[in-house]
Amino acid sequence: MTSSKKYVYAFEEGDGKNKMLLGGKGANLCEMTQIGLNVPPGFTASTDACNAYLEKNQLPPGLMDEIRTHMAALEKKTGKGFGDAKNPLLISVRSGAAMSMPGMMDTILNLGLNEVSLKGLITQTGNERFAYDAYRRFIQLFGKIALNISDEHFDERMVAIKRKYGAPQDVDLNTEHLKELAGEFLAIVQRQTGQAFPQDPFVQLEIAVGAVFRSWMGKRAVDYRKQFRITKAQANGTAVSICTMVFGNMGNDSGTGVGFTRNPGTGENVIYGEYLVNAQGEDVVAGIRTPKAIAEMEQEMPEIHRQLIQLRSRLESHYHEVQDFEFTIEKGILYCLQTRNGKMNARAMVRTSVEMFHEGLITKERALLRTEPAVLEQLLVPQLAPNFHAKSLAQGLSASPGAASGKIVFDADTAETRGRAGEKIILVREETKPEDIHGFFQAQGILTSRGGKTSHAAVVARGMGKPCVSGCEQIVINDQLRSAKVGDTVLKEGDVITIDGGTGHVYAGEIPTVEAEFSEEMNTLLGWADEVAVLKVMANADSPVDALRAREFGAMGIGLCRTERMFNATDRLPIVQEMILAETLEERQAALDRLLPIQRADFKGIFKAMKGLPVTVRLLDPPMHEFLPTAAQLELEIAHLHQLRDTIKALEDLPETLKMLNPKLYQQYADGLTPLMGALSTFKKSHMEAEVIAKKEKILKKVRALAEVNPMLGHRGVRLGITYPEIYSMQIRAILEAAALCGKQGIEIYPEIMVPQVATVEELKRIHSYVQRIRQEVRATHGIDVQFKFGSMLEVVRACMRSGRMAEIAEFFSFGTNDLSQATFSFSREDAENKFLPFYNETGILEDNPFEVLDIKGVGQLMKMAVQNGRATNPDLKVGICGEHGGHPGSIRFCHHIKLNYVSCSGPRVPIARLAAAQAKLLEDQYREPV
Ligand code: PEP
Ligand code: MG
Repeated sequence: MTSSKKYVYAFEEGDGKNKMLLGGKGANLCEMTQIGLNVPPGFTASTDACNAYLEKNQLPPGLMDEIRTHMAALEKKTGKGFGDAKNPLLISVRSGAAMSMPGMMDTILNLGLNEVSLKGLITQTGNERFAYDAYRRFIQLFGKIALNISDEHFDERMVAIKRKYGAPQDVDLNTEHLKELAGEFLAIVQRQTGQAFPQDPFVQLEIAVGAVFRSWMGKRAVDYRKQFRITKAQANGTAVSICTMVFGNMGNDSGTGVGFTRNPGTGENVIYGEYLVNAQGEDVVAGIRTPKAIAEMEQEMPEIHRQLIQLRSRLESHYHEVQDFEFTIEKGILYCLQTRNGKMNARAMVRTSVEMFHEGLITKERALLRTEPAVLEQLLVPQLAPNFHAKSLAQGLSASPGAASGKIVFDADTAETRGRAGEKIILVREETKPEDIHGFFQAQGILTSRGGKTSHAAVVARGMGKPCVSGCEQIVINDQLRSAKVGDTVLKEGDVITIDGGTGHVYAGEIPTVEAEFSEEMNTLLGWADEVAVLKVMANADSPVDALRAREFGAMGIGLCRTERMFNATDRLPIVQEMILAETLEERQAALDRLLPIQRADFKGIFKAMKGLPVTVRLLDPPMHEFLPTAAQLELEIAHLHQLRDTIKALEDLPETLKMLNPKLYQQYADGLTPLMGALSTFKKSHMEAEVIAKKEKILKKVRALAEVNPMLGHRGVRLGITYPEIYSMQIRAILEAAALCGKQGIEIYPEIMVPQVATVEELKRIHSYVQRIRQEVRATHGIDVQFKFGSMLEVVRACMRSGRMAEIAEFFSFGTNDLSQATFSFSREDAENKFLPFYNETGILEDNPFEVLDIKGVGQLMKMAVQNGRATNPDLKVGICGEHGGHPGSIRFCHHIKLNYVSCSGPRVPIARLAAAQAKLLEDQYREPV
């Protein structure tokens, strides 16, 4: 019984869009043929045939008849004969499923070779060595794939023959050697299968087609589908494409090459690629000969060059995308073997997006959608120079992108001093603390041996757009010795290192970097993005400098200004400490009075930098102890001071002791000792150390009093604002007075006051009452009724649950998803990233790091509910996000989906977020929440 089902499609007839039926490769070959490209003729046996084969373990009835008919048509088209002794038709038998599974299934080349057609191939090519080389390769490939003979048998003979003739490489074997090898390979087949190597080309073909179908269920392919979760709905079986072999090594009118329709490194609109005359693809890969640039072909093969230029425009006008294609020239005829969308770097992606739109090749929507937002990072921070050669010394977490070189320093003060003196510095610490901020300002980059991607070092560096590698545990830092060890390598203060915050690698010495570039094309593309996007993109910025930079990146305002960063600057920290150490309200108020003008100036600077745009200032958030040294540090210092007395006493006794030992010894040192003794006695009388000890003990007492078991869940944020109302009052006054002063100068400003860590409506009400009072006071003194918004961070789970009530007072919400993720998971973020999260990710317990990628299934649901309830109370409620997730493209899509008004992220991520916001809008209909 013959089946009437059609299994085989010539490239001229197959539906180029039907990858499910013809596989990606088959469909592509059909499409290329049908748009008039010169593709080597061929046909495809469908995935239906594959499934029929797998069901019965034999080729379905009628399939080989169809194949024979198509082979006859191929012979006609090419003028060659299958198995012919003079002009043989050789074919490739290629696998190809609907989803690309590179290297997972099998392909056989040069099928149709036998003892007879081998002669024909020699006649065709005039190259006996090539023909035997092709023959022995075919026997091995066919033996392995179609006849299941292990490669080892063949490889062993190859090694033996090379040894026998003293040939170091395969290419050193001559015709006679290869002839001998082919004979041995035929014998292997006979031995292993008990049958002669099939000489009938149709028998070869039948066996090969079955073998390729079987490879769909091979272990490699099955594992791959499992790993990448490829379902039957995405790819069901492999098709087999049978394609005429064309040879680029048939003389000087032949050749082979690869091309890009545009330059993939720059995006320039010129053909780009390489070719080799009288060669086959393998020669390019093996690197035996150096290929020439396609531009040279204009001289060497002008007609083919003209055809390539034509091919390039045909490819682009059909695919509307930059193409990466392979070609072969056989005896003066150009064949296109394959084409696919070209992979390009970020610079080329941006430039081609803009240019292809202007050329009418793509729409604006396509221009916005074709670039993965995260790749823009390459253009926004310095990168290690391409092609650098250096071995990584250690690898930590890629905490803040960009590359930087500089001299190692182990503390923030030295970083500040040496940085100010014009030296390039990398601040290397176990972990950083808020009081290290002045070191950050002067450093090129930051390297820590502890802490995750949301550690202090990481967050601050990202905000400043400086490279940071965190949690680099291989580096053991010894602050006392001012050195660090990585394995056997010792790094001393002043040694130069390079860090790459994009990969987390640390290198010894200086590696050249290439600067960031914000091109005209990038501006254009992001301008289009802003026209499309609904979400506004704000920046997290804490100083006028950061604010200005964020503005250059296209920030539409500041979504989070963390005021504690200002407190840590060297000129303010002592005043802040005074405020904390104050015993009475008066003392505290005196310190706050000194801080007020400084804060006011800060805010004025930021408002000015962001004129015309909203600036959300967050009131003080961290626990107070963060502004003080640690108890351990203080205890050590106090112990040293106490020791000072004993040391002085011992020094006073030193002359007598020396005399006792040896009078000559005393003579030797007497000159130095006399002035030292004088200085010591003055010092002793001053009782200087007693004063310092008393001061430090006072601080230690306070530090101990402030110590908390869980400081992150302790006395911080609004809790601090309520227990010490004078602190928040000072900040609110500084904000409103700065606003009033800007107003007087005619600067258009939109301040917003934001309260952190809010858990109850009552907390928010209290702070709101301070704001109302101070607003009136400022109106009275400055004669201006400052317009501003008052809002709450939503970073505590309870606040999300109470958002309906919160919205009665708050005019805006900002999701602090750093804390909210921490609270929702009950993971302490620093510990999680250092300890168990990598394991959770590797073993699939969690797909992503929830501190980088918003956990839509958990945290996201809280947000969604909070937005709905908040807007039910106040439909005009403005809602945004200012946690790290605000700069993550996937998370931004969710933010658009739940109708946030804005996302806020570190300055250098603003361009990424702008593109992601546009894509979120363009793809909103396809968005599905993960379940
Ligand atoms: C947050 O919790 O998401 C947030 C922005 O605040 P911080 O990172 O300063 O705790
Ligand atoms: Mg927070």
